[in-house]
Amino acid sequence: MKEKHKVIIIGSGPAGLTAALYAARANLKPVVFEGIQPGGQLTITTDVENYPGFPDGIMGPELMDLFRKQAQRFGADTHFKHVDSVDLSKKPFEVKIGNETYFSDSIIISTGATAKLLGLKSESKLMGYGVSACATCDGFFFKDKKVFVVGGGDSAIEEASFLTKFASSVTIIHRRSELRASKIMQDRAFENPKIDFMWNTSIIEMLGEPDENGLVGVIVKDTQTGKQRKEDCDGVFLGIGHKPNSELFNNIIKLDETGYIITESGSTKTNIDGVFAAGDIMDSVYRQAITAAGSGCKAAIDAERYLENIE
Ligand code: NAP
Repeated sequence: MKEKHKVIIIGSGPAGLTAALYAARANLKPVVFEGIQPGGQLTITTDVENYPGFPDGIMGPELMDLFRKQAQRFGADTHFKHVDSVDLSKKPFEVKIGNETYFSDSIIISTGATAKLLGLKSESKLMGYGVSACATCDGFFFKDKKVFVVGGGDSAIEEASFLTKFASSVTIIHRRSELRASKIMQDRAFENPKIDFMWNTSIIEMLGEPDENGLVGVIVKDTQTGKQRKEDCDGVFLGIGHKPNSELFNNIIKLDETGYIITESGSTKTNIDGVFAAGDIMDSVYRQAITAAGSGCKAAIDAERYLENIE
């Protein structure tokens, strides 16, 4: 059998890289498979203002580079590889990437969550042609343009505030008449003269072609009267939340009805002995970089204790 590892970490956001740091410092020589978005969701944000220790804020990608460097300094072995499948039915566990199989006594899952879309055909057709789920990535392309942001939570407000740096106007389209966002974010949006609101409204169609003109407008529906109308715009940004990246573990690990991994109360243990979960993949409530990092730390400690008991 090929080399057996003590701990393999799948995913590389704040949870995965903190787990890597702690596991490395416990001499467990963790192997990290970073996945399709190395560094996780913070790599597509700009200023992170609420990560303790950075009173002036820090850019998301820079913060994640620091996380990775710190874990590597203590021996974490990080790879820009995406895991294709896992076999957790036997020990050691197997992790498959292409035609390579990796073996490990324990696994920490920190695959995070991904932005949700509305699910319209026209939305997928125009993705990258005026439609985006990441203002930080694409906002620059909307200089002096008219953009809509969908959603009423912190993500939507954050996207909208960021877009005011480029766009001529930013309208938040929300399906209800009240925001879900935190008070401080709401105040920020209400005070920003460049942000308008379209209440009780949902987008039911996006108009345009995937060519140089791209999106030209949307059909919206009043959620109270059902009335439809056309609105011109150059860009639509989705800020309607996230879904957990748990496809790899369907029918393998216990998930809740929305796909989040279920962990034992007060720990990061999943229903499989030796498999732990940390960060947004098991947390649909807090979903912050600092809480993800905290649970990554817990997962490494849980894995360390598990390994001590099986040795
Ligand atoms: P969220 O709080 O779940 O909000 C999602 C928003 O999108 C809600 O307003 C929801 O409407 C709307 N929505 C959902 N599905 C929709 C659909 N199909 N069509 C139209 N609208 C739809 O998600 P989030 O804003 O991503 O925030 C998630 C968590 O991350 C929160 O805990 C938040 O505090 C945190 N967060 C924090 C920051 C920050 O502090 N800087 C930034 C981003 C996120 P309803 O209100 O009607 O349900």
